[in-house]
Amino acid sequence: MPPVVYQDKCQGCGKCEEICPGDLMELNEKKKAFCRAKRDCWDCMACVKACRFEALETRIPYQLGYYPARLIPKVREKEIEWTCIDINGKVDKFLVKTHNK
Ligand code: SF4
Ligand code: SF4
Repeated sequence: MPPVVYQDKCQGCGKCEEICPGDLMELNEKKKAFCRAKRDCWDCMACVKACRFEALETRIPYQLGYYPARLIPKVREKEIEWTCIDINGKVDKFLVKTHNK
């Protein structure tokens, strides 16, 4: 399932387009990101982690959790704070370091 793009948050920086290993993300004429081939997305989340504007969100595939289960990253300089919301609305947060000293 491709990432959800929040159009109001997308700043058109192009990072998601640059980083997608499948070359699936593009900017439209309004400089907003979209996935041009949804069926080809394999949920690697590279684009979601690259977005500094919280404009992308992963919807957890139905095999793992029904809607409204969500996984939302907040990218900081040296860590990502993941917010996981399960199907009952329970919220868990995880911090993952992305840089070593
Ligand atoms: S990385 Fe985020 S802000 Fe930049 S173009 Fe992609 S969705 Fe928009
Ligand atoms: S989740 Fe991975 S494959 Fe899918 S659009 Fe983002 S970067 Fe590309």
